[in-house]
Amino acid sequence: MIQQMAARCLKCKVPQCRKHCPVSTPIPDVTRLVEEGKEQEAAQILFANNPLSAVCSIVCPHERNCFGHCVLGKKSEPVDFFKIEQFLSWTFLKTYEPPVMEKNGARIAVIGSGPAGITMSILLSLMGYRVTLMEARDRIGGVLRYGIPGFRLPREIVDRYDPILRQLGVQFKPNTFIGSSITLDDMFIDGYKAVFIAVGTAKPNKLGLLGETLGNVYYAIDYLKSPEAYRLGRNVVVVGAGNVALDAARIAVRSIEPGGAVTVINNLLEEEIFGNRQEIDDAVREGIQFVHLLQALKLEEDGVKCVAVRAEKTESGTVYEEDFSRTQKIPADSIIVAIGQGPQGAVMADSNVSKTHRGLVAADENGHTSSPGVFAAGDIVTGPKTVVEAVAFAKKVALEIDRYCREN
Ligand SMILES: Cc1cc2nc3c(=O)[nH]c(=O)nc-3n(C[C@H](O)[C@H](O)[C@H](O)COP(=O)(O)OP(=O)(O)OC[C@H]3O[C@@H](n4cnc5c(N)ncnc54)[C@H](O)[C@@H]3O)c2cc1C
Repeated sequence: MIQQMAARCLKCKVPQCRKHCPVSTPIPDVTRLVEEGKEQEAAQILFANNPLSAVCSIVCPHERNCFGHCVLGKKSEPVDFFKIEQFLSWTFLKTYEPPVMEKNGARIAVIGSGPAGITMSILLSLMGYRVTLMEARDRIGGVLRYGIPGFRLPREIVDRYDPILRQLGVQFKPNTFIGSSITLDDMFIDGYKAVFIAVGTAKPNKLGLLGETLGNVYYAIDYLKSPEAYRLGRNVVVVGAGNVALDAARIAVRSIEPGGAVTVINNLLEEEIFGNRQEIDDAVREGIQFVHLLQALKLEEDGVKCVAVRAEKTESGTVYEEDFSRTQKIPADSIIVAIGQGPQGAVMADSNVSKTHRGLVAADENGHTSSPGVFAAGDIVTGPKTVVEAVAFAKKVALEIDRYCREN
């Protein structure tokens, strides 16, 4: 089956699929090996290039990356490379036994165990560093575990990284929130050679409306951490229509009381909402309703007061304007707010690490911060992006940390 898929790949000399993959997956090399029946070798290449290949093959926005740029797509169906990758990478990961590396003595602190932190821990361990992985929560994964729903990314894949990290000798320090008791400076005093910050962006953006503190109003990013802790009632309104809003809506629709409904409201034209097309289609199939061109005005215990929004397409883009002559209330027992997220910031407390105007860690493209020996990558530097971009960034920074440790 995957051989047939791989055979469709044209093995382009300048593969557009690879060019548009943030982690430059060597797609033609992989499909060639699959065609030759060398699946294990193909999977090894994928893992060496991207330790989170098994995850990315599932959650990547493929239409924007490999799939969307396959030249075959111009005239017929693009190659489903991500399906080949899913099969190879998960089969490989299930039995992967990392090599036992001789340690070089240098200790590195990795803060945050999302995609960037896991990638960094694996790569540095494979280079012989002693890695301590410090994580605010009790399990590894970051958004892979506490954001992306299990029906999109099976937890057994995320869980598989636990024993792999352990076998690599990574010391996992759970329930350790850096920036309250422990600071970055403490780590250098304790002999860490370098520190890598990969704490993501988990602070929800506020709507700034009346009612945001009410007991029935939640932030999507918090809700997704443990949806089972919430009693949503019958009707739920989700404010916002990006990917996080969609995940929250799709989890909510599975847990509302019978006869209820989940409605996603947003202030944009349907074609301008940020959510991934596939996820929107899935959400509609699951019975979630979308109401566009509606701006929330006030959050109440029994619903959301809204005003209609007019949209006018102009040469310089769409101009939106509220129409206060048309207001309405959408009934809701629970309201979930999903209008983006930003940095929490505590990790930089009492340190020389500079912030950007958005409160993100200021770092260059190789992850250097303003503080020598402190590196950063992932969402905490770029703002919310994707798993594969966090991996690609962490890969680059791993080489830079290695160089720094050799020179200092
Ligand atoms: C709901 C949701 C769905 C998404 N869906 C997709 C998708 O389908 N595809 C895709 O490619 N991307 C998706 N993304 C984006 C993607 O998950 C992120 O870009 C990616 O996880 C960023 O990785 P990271 O390692 O930088 O941070 P994170 O994954 O956020 O991990 C940061 C880790 O640091 C820990 N931490 C935070 N502060 C501290 C501290 N002070 N001390 C110690 N530890 C700390 C956190 O607990 C967390 O474990 C989604 C994001 C969300 C929120």
